[in-house]
Amino acid sequence: MATKHNFGAGPCILPQEVFKQASDAVLDFNGLSILEISHRSPDFIEVMEEARDLVKQALNVPDGYTVLYLQGGASLGFLMSAMNMSGKHKKAAYINTGAWSTKAIKEGKNAGLEVEVVASSEDKNFNYIPKGFDIPSDNDFVHFTSNNTIFGTQFKSFPKTDVPMVCDMSSDIFSREINVADFDIIYAGAQKNLGPAGTVLFIVKEDILGKSTHPGIPTYLDLNTHHKKDSSFNTPPVFSIYVSMLNLRHLMANGGVSEAEKRNQAKADLLYNAVDNNPMFKGTAAVEDRSNMNATFVLENDSLTEEFNQMWKDAGIVGLKGHRSVGGFRASMYNALNISSVETLVEIMNEFALKKA
Ligand SMILES: *Cc1c(COP(=O)(O)O)cnc(C)c1O
Repeated sequence: MATKHNFGAGPCILPQEVFKQASDAVLDFNGLSILEISHRSPDFIEVMEEARDLVKQALNVPDGYTVLYLQGGASLGFLMSAMNMSGKHKKAAYINTGAWSTKAIKEGKNAGLEVEVVASSEDKNFNYIPKGFDIPSDNDFVHFTSNNTIFGTQFKSFPKTDVPMVCDMSSDIFSREINVADFDIIYAGAQKNLGPAGTVLFIVKEDILGKSTHPGIPTYLDLNTHHKKDSSFNTPPVFSIYVSMLNLRHLMANGGVSEAEKRNQAKADLLYNAVDNNPMFKGTAAVEDRSNMNATFVLENDSLTEEFNQMWKDAGIVGLKGHRSVGGFRASMYNALNISSVETLVEIMNEFALKKA
């Protein structure tokens, strides 16, 4: 059994039961290993169907949407979403809230679109979510990142617009309730809150399929290719999909997304209270935009970093080092992280403050 407190930003922590079931299936899945079964076998087709169906259940996906498990990660999603959403305007609006948004913008341009950055928080090292901006109606879509994994900010409400919305939800999908009907495309790399690396989830409004105006859209990058083949156009990442399915079963058996959201809120409240009430630390993100998934904070006195690092490492905590573009610390608290791990971290922070007082 894994024994450390994993605050890593991704690949993600998953429930222990899921690791156990996944390892059992590596040895024996109906008499074969899950690693050797054919993706065309009835056994795997059943897994794929359940994995797609569980997404629909977990997020109350309305009729008229297709769920796909593809490869290439969210990073290919940047390009695929732009190509597939290319419409009559050949123009797209992007909200720039950090490193991942910046990469999405680059791929929007690579897809041949005219890109308009309608809002950005780059002026303050992406420590807030822009508000009160306009999304001109002559755009084929607006793209944004719901949760900024690196900078620790999160959209608490989504833009209200008639322009079709495309969202990279890699690091907060299944962490809170959303209204899928507000979006034309949602995509998310599995390894932040869904499953092991190797697959990227797409939830796509069927109306947009086959309507791309992108000249000569490559077969593989056309979402309609995958929809028509029930997400098995070519060999899908069988194991990642299987484990994602197990994790979604676990999520549903534990109250679904609404209960996960409550647990995530309790964890985030606990940690941010500790950051705010501890004189040694300060949060880096604007308070109203703080992410419930990735909490970023720094020491008031930078020179104590090594000492604090040693303390949390000794307590069995891993993955707390902040991304180099923010520095300090980042506590990623994905669905499977137990609140007891956050309690351990808070104790260490308090101990550190007492020691230094
Ligand atoms: C990790 C991450 C990505 C990149 O995902 P890959 O699957 O590695 O390509 C994109 N967007 C966000 C918000 C992320 O957190």
